[in-house]
Amino acid sequence: MTRKCWLLALGLLIALLHTGCLPPGRLGSEPPDHERELWLVDGFDFPVGDRNGRGWAVTGYDFLDWSSYSNSYHPGEDWNIPGAGNGDQGEPVYAVAHGEVVFSGWNTALGNVILIKHAITPTDFVWSQYAHLAERYVDRGERVYRRQPIGTVGRGPNNTFAAHLHFELRKADLPANAWPRTNGVPWSRSKVADFWLHPSAFINLNRPQ
Ligand SMILES: [Zn+2]
Repeated sequence: MTRKCWLLALGLLIALLHTGCLPPGRLGSEPPDHERELWLVDGFDFPVGDRNGRGWAVTGYDFLDWSSYSNSYHPGEDWNIPGAGNGDQGEPVYAVAHGEVVFSGWNTALGNVILIKHAITPTDFVWSQYAHLAERYVDRGERVYRRQPIGTVGRGPNNTFAAHLHFELRKADLPANAWPRTNGVPWSRSKVADFWLHPSAFINLNRPQ
């Protein structure tokens, strides 16, 4: 073999070894495929403030309060920085747990909405919904991790509300924007509780270890 041939052979060998040694399809810190299918939660944090929700409070309608504005039981919690007025506009909103975005869009009643599906076990799910957002950073189909910023606090459609986060936790696979009324008739309190969870109570019972 000539010197040139040796060099070519060596180059080929190096190229082959190199491709063979690459890890199979791993990118950054993304979990491998078998984990992506069942990306189980590792606990729940609060959607605003620090991971314990400090600095924020439910000062608007609480879970299952009667809302005269919407003529129904309120299926979630309204989170605010107490005393801030609209000062919490633009504050970050975080995914409460690992999950998959199943809706990210606009609704005439709620404004910008994000709905995330979370796997507690491979067969048990809960859904978190974030409404009245000023901005949405994630799209349908995206995997998100706990504490990932997914959008910002806003005022709802046409600045209808004082800035706050309307936050829901659902134990049923309801459509995004679902509201506990049928043909204008509000569901009973117990029927709402069949489909929605008390957000803070659930988060407090399921904190990350
Ligand atoms: Zn609300």
